[in-house]
Amino acid sequence: MNTEANILIVDDEMGIREGCKRALSEEGYAVDAAEDGKTGLQKVKEKNYDLILVDLMMPGIGGMELIKKVHHCDPEIITVVITGNATIETAVEATKLGAYDYLPKPFSPEALSVVVKRGLEKRMLRLEAKKLYAERTQKMLELVNERSRLRTIIGCMADGVLVANLEGRLVLWNASSVKMLKSKGFDIAGEPLEYYISNEPLIVAIKEILNSDDQDFSMISHEIPAQDEKVILMANIAPVRDEDGKILGAVTVLRDITALKEINKIKSQFVSMVAHELRAPMAAIKGWLEVVVSGEAGGDAEQNKQWLQRAMDRSDSLLALVDDLLVINRMETGKVAQKMGPVKINDIILKIVDLLGPDAEKHKVSIAAELAEDLPSIQADVRDMEKLFTNLISNAIKYNRKNGSVFLEGKVEGNFVCYRIKDTGIGISAEHLSCIFDDFYRADDERTKKIPGTGLGLTIASKIVNSHFGRIEVTSEPDKGSIFSVFLPLEHRKD
Ligand code: ADP
Repeated sequence: MNTEANILIVDDEMGIREGCKRALSEEGYAVDAAEDGKTGLQKVKEKNYDLILVDLMMPGIGGMELIKKVHHCDPEIITVVITGNATIETAVEATKLGAYDYLPKPFSPEALSVVVKRGLEKRMLRLEAKKLYAERTQKMLELVNERSRLRTIIGCMADGVLVANLEGRLVLWNASSVKMLKSKGFDIAGEPLEYYISNEPLIVAIKEILNSDDQDFSMISHEIPAQDEKVILMANIAPVRDEDGKILGAVTVLRDITALKEINKIKSQFVSMVAHELRAPMAAIKGWLEVVVSGEAGGDAEQNKQWLQRAMDRSDSLLALVDDLLVINRMETGKVAQKMGPVKINDIILKIVDLLGPDAEKHKVSIAAELAEDLPSIQADVRDMEKLFTNLISNAIKYNRKNGSVFLEGKVEGNFVCYRIKDTGIGISAEHLSCIFDDFYRADDERTKKIPGTGLGLTIASKIVNSHFGRIEVTSEPDKGSIFSVFLPLEHRKD
């Protein structure tokens, strides 16, 4: 310690300076001396001293002033007053300024040694305390930072977070949980769960975890209806354990799964609808094949052919259904990229009329078209447009009456090109009209029963129109006919 301690003697009396220096050097201290306050202060600024012996009566900067200035440079420095004019007043004043000890002159080397030793011990304690204080402050700062970081992360989470202690009191939560549970009173911490949450099943689930003596489980998931019955929450509740596996509390993470549930419901409804729609033609095909295989027709080849033809007709409709399903699936999963470009719908319609000509002839239905010649091309996908108008025109033919007609009209209406497909067919009653765009919907009655169809043609048509930012409308009168109107937005020109 001695070798590490730096001591400064500031005294204008050379004899004292030299005497102290000698005595302290012999004890192993590193000792410097200054003959006045100014030089002493300069030395303090240049070097770290542990202890300073200061004479009070000096020319220039006096002892009292020096003590004050020295403590300003290093508050932990030990100052010891050495003076020949020792009075109670000066002792009190020096102590007030931070002096540690007081040594009246003349003093013996032994007295000096005792005072210096005590002073240096004090200095060591002061430095140690300062170091501990700094470390503690740093640790507290880190802790506070860590906590606030944790709070920020939890606060930003879209999932709700609730942390309860072993007594079932809430100690931590985030804004999402408040929103999901529509709770009030989250302004104070530490109250029982019931104070904040009125969701009974959630409280029961959390308490079940807190009271569990099972050492092994790590998480339990519950589906919990929220206050608003339409909202369904998934609560994942995990115990917080100490090193011995004893439960200290529970962390609950809440997730709103309402949309997910709804999607799953729609998905299973769709699957059951598809299965149902596939079953009917497959059962029919099997039925016709069974009668052929059973040999019921005996040797009647013509009869067998008829039955096989029926099986073939049903497999055609089965194939059409599967094709339509694939189209819908591709559209919904975005597997087919639309190739948008300028398309002249008139050309497409005339091509379809040509293609469906034999079909119309078979149904004894005439087709006429009045398409404005100057109709601008629109931004569209050619294959989509072909599918859209094929579905609508073929419906107008197949749901027509004998010797009926189909009239196609195309013109500009506002910012849209509008195509109308009018027929003189069986029409659609009001009760069916609002459903005909739904998946698999067929307006079943005596007349439509024999007309083949999948119930997906209009679903596909409306999806195509929507994907082109247009709209489709229908008006119909039973036994008179229907009008399907397709509106597609005109291409925006930059001029
Ligand atoms: P489908 O394959 O059965 O024709 P769509 O989705 O194309 O399926 O049509 C759905 C239902 O709407 C049809 O089953 C039919 O009842 C009715 N429908 C569609 N177009 C017409 C029309 N032009 N005239 C009368 N009814 C129609």
